[in-house]
Amino acid sequence: MRPVIGIATPLETARWAVWELPAALVAQNYLQAVQRAGGLAVLLPPDDRHLDERAADEAVSLLDGLLLIGGPDLDPAGYGAPLHRDAEERQPERDRVELALLAAARRGGLPVLGICRGMQLINVAAGGTLKQHLDGGRTDGRHRRALGAFAGNEHEVEIEQGSLAAQAAGETRHTVVSHHHQAVDRLGNGLSVSARDTEDGVPEAVEGESEPWLLGVQWHPEADETSSIIAALVDAARGSDENGS
Ligand code: MN
Repeated sequence: MRPVIGIATPLETARWAVWELPAALVAQNYLQAVQRAGGLAVLLPPDDRHLDERAADEAVSLLDGLLLIGGPDLDPAGYGAPLHRDAEERQPERDRVELALLAAARRGGLPVLGICRGMQLINVAAGGTLKQHLDGGRTDGRHRRALGAFAGNEHEVEIEQGSLAAQAAGETRHTVVSHHHQAVDRLGNGLSVSARDTEDGVPEAVEGESEPWLLGVQWHPEADETSSIIAALVDAARGSDENGS
């Protein structure tokens, strides 16, 4: 059986044929990364019913792993901070549904990978906070030199030896594709920072200290065909499938 990887899927306004409508939208590179690794990618579109624990548990029970993808800023109200002047687009409804799915996945002991916004969500879910705008982050910052591009937005991170992030990346000195203007500020409970930018020390990965497989990376493994991070989620999900069913 292919491990089933649920991808929390946002609504975005999209254009195709003669239409311009809200659509459930996941960039294909996430899907391909899951599929290349042998996983079955399943989209979980927004569903307010998942705010109910039992409904979220039911949805997550169909999965072997959960992937939280990149996207807009988290609403700072969710971590008790006022809105920063350089904050960008927010989707509070998306925050709530993704937090509910994350909580259900953790109750169910599922492997979880958070990418970029997904890593920030993991931190906020654990009671952490975010730095709402990295200095110079708009165009000339190290973490997002150009908007809407992955090429040219690379930088180096140092990953802690022996960590889940190091295991998933397969190395401790890692060149990553970066596209973020926010970052983890106060770390959430039960998490550790397992990678940092080599120059400015910005947290680049967090992981659960006492959970089987909870990893957030601030970078974009889906945009890097040489990355083994998403394959590591699929492998972990394969393991949880064998144990669970
Ligand atoms: Mn970065």
